[in-house]
Amino acid sequence: THFGEQTVALDDKQGMVNQVFHGVADRYDLMNDLMSGGIHRIWKDAMVADLAPPKAGSRPYRVLDMAGGTGDIAERIINASVGYAEVVVSDINSDMLRVGAERAKSWRYPAQASFVQANAEELPFEDNSFDGYTIAFGIRNVPRIQKALNEAHRVLKRGGRILVLEFSQVDVPGLDAVYKAFSDNVIPPMGKLVTGDAQPYQYLVESIRKFPNPALFQSMLTEAGFKRAKATPFTGNIATLFSGWKL
Ligand code: SAM
Repeated sequence: THFGEQTVALDDKQGMVNQVFHGVADRYDLMNDLMSGGIHRIWKDAMVADLAPPKAGSRPYRVLDMAGGTGDIAERIINASVGYAEVVVSDINSDMLRVGAERAKSWRYPAQASFVQANAEELPFEDNSFDGYTIAFGIRNVPRIQKALNEAHRVLKRGGRILVLEFSQVDVPGLDAVYKAFSDNVIPPMGKLVTGDAQPYQYLVESIRKFPNPALFQSMLTEAGFKRAKATPFTGNIATLFSGWKL
């Protein structure tokens, strides 16, 4: 059936994504800096500033950083809360988590993070168990995005918040042509230079082009049950920060 074929294609996609990140795990952070000229750090800081994790409270403040990879969102959240927040870094890829857990040993508050291998589409966490759910540059890689958003809603507590940071399509005249040329002619060769393989970076460029536009993604958040869904463009729409509440 058509539906059956689609399921196979989605499973293929996950297999491909897993290969990509197994391959680049050890050089992943370096690549982010090189390819974004360090700008990803500014976007991530802005995401965590928007989350505004509390620095104290009468009960624990727990965040699930999904597709958390090497843990840099988690480290920012924990530091912003001066060691109060507890962050579960979760990723489907054991290599990314291995690199993250190793790096976490030198964080300011290493005890505040834990690392759990899981698929965003089927979370091994209880209903209503987190105050925040973050996912940075991860949702694009998940084959069934709506399923992952539904799961995010399920595990959040009432009053909890989702923040999604993801690449967008640049729509600023002039910048769009520069960005396209950069994506086609700089990203894959740079990937080959640093990791020895251009193909994962070709995939990266294509996955950005296929990702739903901000209006569509916002409606998917609403479909999952999130209220007050909103999208904030960063840097000429190269990235977008989405936010929603479980109320
Ligand atoms: N959040 C980190 C950051 O912003 O640098 C890492 C982002 S990295 C581009 C994407 C991550 O998504 C990878 O670590 C990959 O293993 C993970 N991923 C892909 N599919 C996933 C899935 N179905 N469930 C959970 N994580 C997934």
